[in-house]
Amino acid sequence: MKRERVVIIGSGPAGLTAALYSARAQLSTTVIVGKLLGGQISTTHEVDNFPGFPDGTTGPELVERMKQQAERFGAKFLLESVTSVDFTNGTPFRITTDTEEYLADAVIVTIGANPRELGVPGEREYVGRGVSYCATCDGFFFRGKDITVVGGGDSALQEGLFLTKFGKTVNIIHRRDALRASVALQTRAFAHPKISFTYSTVVNEIKADDTGVVKSIVLHDLKTDKVYEKPTDGVFVFVGYDPNSPVFGKQLALDNLGYVIVDDLFRTNVEGVFAGGEIHDSVFRQAITAAGDGCAAAISAINWLGDREAQLQPLDEVVAAQAGD
Ligand code: NAP
Repeated sequence: MKRERVVIIGSGPAGLTAALYSARAQLSTTVIVGKLLGGQISTTHEVDNFPGFPDGTTGPELVERMKQQAERFGAKFLLESVTSVDFTNGTPFRITTDTEEYLADAVIVTIGANPRELGVPGEREYVGRGVSYCATCDGFFFRGKDITVVGGGDSALQEGLFLTKFGKTVNIIHRRDALRASVALQTRAFAHPKISFTYSTVVNEIKADDTGVVKSIVLHDLKTDKVYEKPTDGVFVFVGYDPNSPVFGKQLALDNLGYVIVDDLFRTNVEGVFAGGEIHDSVFRQAITAAGDGCAAAISAINWLGDREAQLQPLDEVVAAQAGD
């Protein structure tokens, strides 16, 4: 059993920023990384919109720099996933991974959300080479190109409209003959000269050219049963998101989509448990907004711990206990 002032669950920009603030406030801090250090951003090849990088950067580089900055102040990283938590008795909270168990005075949940995948051949292989789940991140790279958007909800139409700033054409492919998106977004999309719709059609495969860059998609028209190949320069998939909240069971209050509910101070319904980034944000989904959330959640945790200092086990005992582990 390890004892920490702060355990951060998740290592995307929110978690890494929370780690920097928490460790720099002299709080013993461990980040439980999850499957992939950095989360979604670490699979993004070009990051043009994170302030401070005039020539742009890559997801892995950004993540590595954020990690090093947090480590400079003593943050520790465990390359495992959380398997269960126990928040039921209040602080200290119990957090379990495959090999470790932590007791933490405060917890910051930055475990993120994952865009749903289509699950078709070529999708995973060509992420960053024509397949994307983020129009704000990648739209710029498709200037003057023919873009395909998959999905029929608000995200597909909103992001499809955004992509018209860049693409020559935007074709939205939906598996049914009626859209799920709001009427307001439908009206705007129908009126846009660059947007066309292909209904009752699913993507069977995404294909690339010899250089590994997307060149076409194989489509299946469910009404006619026709399977055909269509050239495209990019495939943006917006078929929903899954927040990584199931590990918390019913211990954290979630909205109807499974996102953790927080107040203005990034406090969850459990006193001492804070949350930020995509685990609570279904709207902005940017590395910089996640980093801002992580900062704010950490400051709230620091203030909350400061108010309770008298009740906390002294830090030297915590360190001694760790040394004895
Ligand atoms: P969503 O509402 O769940 O829509 C997902 C869309 O993807 C649906 O049209 C669905 O088809 C389709 N889909 C799901 N799995 C698929 C698959 N395997 N293959 C092909 N298509 C598939 O997700 P969302 O659009 O990301 O929106 C999530 C939430 O955020 C919603 O509540 C939405 O209102 C909200 N949101 C709001 C705004 C806004 O207000 N401007 C913007 C973005 C998101 P079916 O329709 O057949 O199920």
